Amino acid sequence: MREEPNPGLSRHIPKTDRLLEHDAVQTMLERYPRPLVLAAIRDTLQSLRENLDPGSADRQADLECLVEQVEQRLKASGFHLKRVINATGVVLHTNLGRAPLPSHAAKRVFELAEGYCNLEFELESGKRGKRVSHIQPLLTSLTGAQAALVVNNNAAAVLLMLSGLASGKEAVISRGELVEIGGSFRIPEVMAQAGVKLVEVGTTNKTYIKDYEDAIGPETAALLKVHPSNFRIVGFHRSVPTQELAALAHERGLLMLEDLGSGCLVPLDSRGLPSEPTVQEIVAAGADVVCFSGDKLLGGPQAGIAAGKRAMIEAMAKHPLMRALRLDKLILGALEATLLSYLEPQKAIREIPALAMLSQKPKELEARALRLASSLKQTLGDAVEIHVVPLEGKVGGGALPQAYLPSYAVGLQVAGTKAEELGAALRKASPPVVGVEREGRVLLDVRTILHQEEDLVCSALADVLGRKGENGG
Ligand SMILES: *Cc1c(COP(=O)(O)O)cnc(C)c1O
Repeated sequence: MREEPNPGLSRHIPKTDRLLEHDAVQTMLERYPRPLVLAAIRDTLQSLRENLDPGSADRQADLECLVEQVEQRLKASGFHLKRVINATGVVLHTNLGRAPLPSHAAKRVFELAEGYCNLEFELESGKRGKRVSHIQPLLTSLTGAQAALVVNNNAAAVLLMLSGLASGKEAVISRGELVEIGGSFRIPEVMAQAGVKLVEVGTTNKTYIKDYEDAIGPETAALLKVHPSNFRIVGFHRSVPTQELAALAHERGLLMLEDLGSGCLVPLDSRGLPSEPTVQEIVAAGADVVCFSGDKLLGGPQAGIAAGKRAMIEAMAKHPLMRALRLDKLILGALEATLLSYLEPQKAIREIPALAMLSQKPKELEARALRLASSLKQTLGDAVEIHVVPLEGKVGGGALPQAYLPSYAVGLQVAGTKAEELGAALRKASPPVVGVEREGRVLLDVRTILHQEEDLVCSALADVLGRKGENGG
């Protein structure tokens, strides 16, 4: 049995039931699962037992005060998966969930989640339907491809493409494109998993069409091109464009398959970003299948999209893996809503947060940083030193690694507190604010803070850093 730290005082400690019967706790039971409420009561009483002081036992054991503590504990336990404020400036931050959904797409998720939907049901005939039917016409019209399918993520799309179209055969790929993306996705391993024999050609920095020609043999099924994503070879470099590879593949009766990675549907160079081939361009260049992500530059939910020739997409759809990789109805709804924005590209850039964030001009960002800095100064007072700092941001998600994204941040510094400690305090705020620790400060890059989150940043920081007037400020 546990020793009471101070047995004489234990009479001050109320029984669990007394707290449980309290009106406020009864209200908590309507909002939180009973086991969590019980655990919060148990922890509150345990902490009381350990800290009970003979001089102030009555005050410490006050029922109202304990109920308050139970509520605090419940609030702090909250959900484990939390909404956070991304102040890192990395627009497609994989660890922070990549692209934030456009608000009309988030509303679709909510509507679909609350009830039933015609996921695999034809409303006209009353017969069984196909889940891809909701999105196929949209994808074909946006990409120019004959057919398309959707799976859980782009890694799944690539695995399905290789398994469905080249298993047991060889695929030829440039040594410059044998890349690793985000640790666990390595092209040679994915090919092995799909049962495709890797035939590597060229060198790390230069591969010519002749290299592919020489490698084609009786076992070759496809030429494979992979977007190098998060890495770039600069300088003495050559790779073969899709169009040339497709021409060679088709002349030899082979498939031309491409993993485009991020895959964007609108040209970004007009927005001051490096030019990236769009999905439409790759389809027009003759790729038989092109795969790309839903939550990178597309700015939608996590998904993988494969667009291409009808026969190839059908072969992929019939593969047994399709069932394991299929998309959930909520994601399908969010993806459909996101893709609808692309029917008007200018609207897409306005409505899709990832694209809107990438398109912000340095002048706008500076104005936003100045505004946020001044609200923070008003809220936090002198306890925190606040400056606007110019800095360089990244796109993230393996997209546009060379993009130079000049941005502005609000830099925070507290005398006597290390940047790491300040950063940790901000991550404990509600909602947590994730910034960048640099040169003794925590920087909050405004590019990735949504407009509607600006006030939240102030109140969240006030809670952890103290309001003006408190903390001696
Ligand atoms: C990001 C990426 C992937 C993986 O896509 P997910 O949607 O994260 O599964 C695969 N290939 C390339 C080239 C990528 O850039």
